[in-house]
Amino acid sequence: MTTNLIDAPQRRWEPSSPTNPTASSGARCRPPGTALRKDANMPQALVANPPCTVCGRPSSHVELVAPGAKPADWQRWPPQRRNAYDNARHRHGDQQWWLIFSGVVAGNGHGQPIDLAQATRIASAFAEPYRYTVMRTAGFHDDAGFCGPCDAPYCQQHWNVSNSGYSTCPRGHGKSLDALSWPDDL
Ligand SMILES: [Zn+2]
Ligand SMILES: [Zn+2]
Repeated sequence: MTTNLIDAPQRRWEPSSPTNPTASSGARCRPPGTALRKDANMPQALVANPPCTVCGRPSSHVELVAPGAKPADWQRWPPQRRNAYDNARHRHGDQQWWLIFSGVVAGNGHGQPIDLAQATRIASAFAEPYRYTVMRTAGFHDDAGFCGPCDAPYCQQHWNVSNSGYSTCPRGHGKSLDALSWPDDL
């Protein structure tokens, strides 16, 4: 059983000088020696809700939030949830890309920091139209609800999720969608 949402090793960009007022510049987020590239190479903020092939309900919610930005649905978030989100981001310096993921049976709550490489990988994995072979490169434990043989996403109801987390799609393909342990500080 995996304990990380993403297969890649967790890396963090730490502010080199937290007390420096100019430290909020995004420049320090680039690895040393890399020049600022064209914007085309930067991931874009993303919200993906692949619809269940049977009923159209979202199979999952994948959201990439840019450094220092708010989630797309922010205006509709209740104050308590906004506070928890802000607190989580501030604990991580608020200058990283942020991933909010709600899978078929498990998610990461208010989200977690990810590095630029992960953000880029997820952004290209969820470019529409969604294809299983492309989407799975994002590395989500449950493939965001996609069934590989069907090349299609299904919601929790249509995955027939069992207590053990082992599930079958409407066409009988089996898959494990069990919950993960999430980092305590998120
Ligand atoms: Zn469904
Ligand atoms: Zn299937």
